[in-house]
Order: sequence, then structure tokens, then C-alpha cells
Amino acid sequence: MPADTIQVPAYAMRVVDALEEAGFEAWVVGGFVRDALLGGEGHDVDVTTSAPWQSTAEVLRRAGIEVHETGTKHGTVTAVVGGLPVETTTYRVEGAYSDRRHPDEVRFVTDAREDLARRDFTVNAMAYHPQRGLLDPFGGQEDLAAGVIRAVGDPRRRFDEDALRVLRAVRFACRLGFRIEGGTEAALAESAGGLRAVAQERIGQELDGILASGRVSWALRREIDVMAEALPELAPMRGFDQRSPYHAYDVLEHTARVCAGVEELCGGDAPRALRWAALLHDVAKPATFSVDDGGRGHFFGHPEEGARVAGSAMGRLAVERGCVREAQALIRLHDLPISGSVRSVRRMMSKLEEACPGRGEALSLALVRLKRADALGKAPAYRGYAVELDGVERTLRAEIARGSVMSIGDLKVTGADVMRERGIEAGPGVGMVLRGLLSAVLADELPNTREALLAELRY
Ligand code: ATP
Ligand code: MG
Repeated sequence: MPADTIQVPAYAMRVVDALEEAGFEAWVVGGFVRDALLGGEGHDVDVTTSAPWQSTAEVLRRAGIEVHETGTKHGTVTAVVGGLPVETTTYRVEGAYSDRRHPDEVRFVTDAREDLARRDFTVNAMAYHPQRGLLDPFGGQEDLAAGVIRAVGDPRRRFDEDALRVLRAVRFACRLGFRIEGGTEAALAESAGGLRAVAQERIGQELDGILASGRVSWALRREIDVMAEALPELAPMRGFDQRSPYHAYDVLEHTARVCAGVEELCGGDAPRALRWAALLHDVAKPATFSVDDGGRGHFFGHPEEGARVAGSAMGRLAVERGCVREAQALIRLHDLPISGSVRSVRRMMSKLEEACPGRGEALSLALVRLKRADALGKAPAYRGYAVELDGVERTLRAEIARGSVMSIGDLKVTGADVMRERGIEAGPGVGMVLRGLLSAVLADELPNTREALLAELRY
């Protein structure tokens, strides 16, 4: 999209205009400009300005705009206009990064171009003002058009300053569907080791972003050096020969196929826990590998061990706890044989509901997709299970439509019915009876109707 069609939202222009009317210079910068040039909308707006942050705060407050002093050490204040935040930062450059994570100091400067030069990639190093147009000293617009992620300046130096940029390069390439320019890509592998010094939480956020792009399979195939530095648990998957007739690929390529598969099955919008589960479902295969007398490989206990490894890795990366629990449940059950029978489907649903209360239905749909993608990632002769899973999904949807039974709370009788019909007092005995009824319903031996369950209690 040509630059003169960029529409800066009015709320953000209030900030730019207030600063310029006070005699400072101000531009919209970074992700908003990039995404607007790509024709996207809705990115939050960041502003870069010649005003020192104290003046920014004063000028904006005088214009009736709410200001929060969110990062004044780095020259940042956050203006809030009509409830929407506009991060406003003084032109700055960064000093040395002795810890390879945080600049030791920032230095404020007077030229917007200097500020753009400290930014990571050419496509992120553009500024825009409706009257002055696009400020693009590093060819960002051209790289956007060509679909290229290219470091601003010498890539090796830029990655050594801040190793997180290595992972950001992969995230932007995934998100935008871009390739990484040759020199920048060569520097990625050389600098990836620096990720060890980066806070796990920040790595977790970038990995989450890579997964959210729906293109983690690309990152696994093309940038495994970077991915394995970010998440060392991935490293043993690479080149791991499964020695099994079921598998035509090593664990890494199989995983990439499963990650791509769940996206396809979810229209590119797979739930977050399913994405993490696809990435890590076979993570424990190398560690649980054994070879039988016939020379064939086995991976006994890999789902259970995989869930454990995933829990510790995701916890370390500060992934939200609910997501971790869900991913673990999916990994633990990914090899569970499921048929299209009501009994089998109810068993899956109740196991997932037990692991993640309230999430049994959604996770069952996710598990069927994981299993389908897993089957399709096997050797061609063993992909047939994917078709059988159509039957599983049909039964599952019928169960959900009919009102799922996954826990004793879903039974059509209550503890009060049990006490009355059996003549017993409140206490653990009541729960035992209800659990007995639940297993009979899950086994499809009893329908979940009030008459049938009461008859069973009276029996
Ligand atoms: P997103 O849509 O993911 O938020 P963004 O471009 O807004 O993308 P941010 O991480 O919010 O990215 O950062 C805003 C801008 O700050 C970037 O566009 C880039 O110019 C600059 N930037 C952010 N992090 C770094 C970094 N580690 N090194 C250099 N520049 C950075
Ligand atoms: Mg941003």
C-alpha cells in the first residue's frame, strides 16, 4: 500500500498534533506504520518525538490528555486518549548492552533518523507523519514489498547487543510470512547462543508469538538453531530416527507436520494450548526411546513423560498456568486409542474434564484435531486412522449437542436422590454411589436419564 494512504487514527493524531503545536517534532512509528503499509489495521500506535519526556507530559496534560509516566527512564510516557493508549517516547539511542539484554543507558537525541537506526528490522524502522510523509532511511518499504526481514545495520552486532532480536526476527518472519535476508539469517545462527542470557519470560512471550502466527512449522524447519536455543527441549528431536514402520520422518519433521496440521484443521486459528501441545507432544520421544529384539523403536511412556517435560518448560517460560495444564492434558492423552463408540468418546471427555474442569468439551475437540494431525504426520501406510477420527468427531459432536456427561455434576440425579433412594446419610458414601453411576453412564451401560438412574438406585 502506498504511504500516502496511511490513516493515522484521530485519537493518536491528537498526541502528534499537540506536540507539534508546542514546537516539537512527532511521528507515528514502528509496528503501526509497518502494519498500515501492509494494509492491516488495529495495531496500537506508538509515537516518537523530539520532546523530552517531561515536556511531552506537560504539553499533553495541558491539551487535556491523560498521561502516565510508564517508562521515563527510557523516555516513555503513555498518553491515553478516549481510553486508547499511545506510547510516546523521546528520540533515543541505546548505549552498550553489557548483559546482552538491557541497554546500560539510553541517550536522548534530536534526530528522528538516529532513533530509527536503533530499531531492530528495516520494516520496524519507519516513521510517518501525514504532512511530511514516510521517513524510511533503511529501505523498510522496499523490504515490506519484497517480504524480507532485514536487520538495521550490521546484523551480527545488532544481535550481539540484544539476543532477543534473534527470536524477534523469527517471530516477524512467521507472523508476516516473510523470509529472512541472507546476511541477517546467517547472523541468527551465529548469535542464537546469546538467547541463554535472555530472561525466560521474554523468550516465552516470543515463542507464544511464533505459535500464534500459525507458522511455527516454518520456524522448526528453517530456524531450528534459534528455536532450540530458545527451547532446548527441542534440540534432541532433530535428526532423531524413530526406527519404526509408523514413521517416515524424524521427530522434528513429524512435529513440524503436526504443528502445520492442527493449523489446517483449525483454519489457521488453533487454540493456544493445542499449539503448544502440537509443538511438544513428542518432546519425550528421544528420552524414552528403546529398541526391541527385532530392531524396532518404541517410546513407552512418552506421552506421560512429555506432559511432564512440557509442564516444566512452559512453567519456566512463564506461560499462563491454565494453558500449561491444558497442553499437558492434551499431550498426556495424544496416544490414547479412541474409537467412534459413545463409550470411548465419553471416556476421553471425562478424562479431559477431570484434568481441566469446565474444559472437557473444548479440549476433546482439540484432542481429536491433535490426533488427526498426528496420524497424518506418520508414514503414508499408517495415516488411515485420520479417517476413523471422523467417526470420533461425529460422536463427540452428538454428545455435546445432547448434553455431555463428563462428571457427576452432569448426571440427571443428585446426591439428594441417592440419599433418599438408598436411605443413606450425607457423607463419602453418596459420592461413591454417584461415581458408580457415572462410570456406568460413561461405559454406555446406562443412559443418563432420570428414570434410568432412579431405577438403578432402587434396584
Ligand atoms: P508487535 O505488533 O509485535 O507489537 P511492534 O513492531 O509494535 O510489533 P514492539 O515489540 O511492540 O513491536 O516494539 C515496538 C517497536 O520498537 C518495534 O517496531 C521496533 O521498532 C522497536 N523495538 C522493539 N523491541 C526492540 C528490540 N529488542 N531491539 C530493537 N528495536 C526494538
Ligand atoms: Mg507493539
